Amino acid sequence: MSNIVVFGKGGIGKSTISANLSTLYALEGRKVLHVGCDPKHDSTLGLVDGGLIETFMEKYARLYGARDHGEITAADLIVKGRLGIDCVEAGGPEPGVGCAGRGISLMLEALQDLGLLKSGGYDARVFDVLGDVVCGGFAAPLRKGFAEKIVIVVSEELMALYAANNIAKSVKTYSSNGVYLAGLVANLKDGQVDRRRIERFAAILGTRILEFIPRDPAVREAEFAREKTVVERAPKSAFAKSVKSLAAKILAVKRSDCPIPTPMDDRRFYEAW
Ligand code: ADP
Ligand code: MG
Repeated sequence: MSNIVVFGKGGIGKSTISANLSTLYALEGRKVLHVGCDPKHDSTLGLVDGGLIETFMEKYARLYGARDHGEITAADLIVKGRLGIDCVEAGGPEPGVGCAGRGISLMLEALQDLGLLKSGGYDARVFDVLGDVVCGGFAAPLRKGFAEKIVIVVSEELMALYAANNIAKSVKTYSSNGVYLAGLVANLKDGQVDRRRIERFAAILGTRILEFIPRDPAVREAEFAREKTVVERAPKSAFAKSVKSLAAKILAVKRSDCPIPTPMDDRRFYEAW
């Protein structure tokens, strides 16, 4: 059983990569729970028929006032996706009102109370979490002690590495909860870029690059077509091949291969290049 948490800066490719990972694990016969923890609530778009699902925050407003907490069931919170994938989206408050991190914490507490984060019959749980906000809510999957393998998506851009360095700080803080940094995924914007800079960054953090993923128009086309993920729609594409390789590597990483990360303080980060 694997609890995989995909972190990274907004727009870096977390939802695309995590939805394709969930698809691959489901196609291999695993029972998968896919949890979108980004107020954008688009993580499960490619996994369900019919577009955006009702979010946890929407369900919360609808169900939790009307019923006793004890009466809320897993079936109330989970949307059945394609390939048998169980889907949940945290959602978030209206922009400018309230705290999205709090919504994520509430959702995780509800899933935990229902026993879905420990057993619940899943072989893999994939969490897709926004990582450029330094807020306890977004660190909730780490804090609550069920997260296991952390994967950070980066690109060759400085701010993507900055967000990754911050996420590594959270992983370090919560490492006593059993979370560990499985590695980085380099989702490249420019296929010609010198990869040594990301490799050096990984070495400074004391981690590895699990996979380099190329920019691929198949991703854009799948996103517009919406009915399927890239690995289903274009299984021979460069993106699909890299994500297949990534999926196997994530499962194979062992805790004992993953030292506690050694992120830089902000000053050192900017001086490192
Ligand atoms: P995040 O979840 O991190 O905010 P998304 O997965 O939504 O990021 O990706 C942001 C945008 O970049 C999307 O429009 C997606 O289609 C595109 N994208 C991500 N990775 C790739 C890639 N390897 N090749 C082409 N387009 C990509
Ligand atoms: Mg996303």
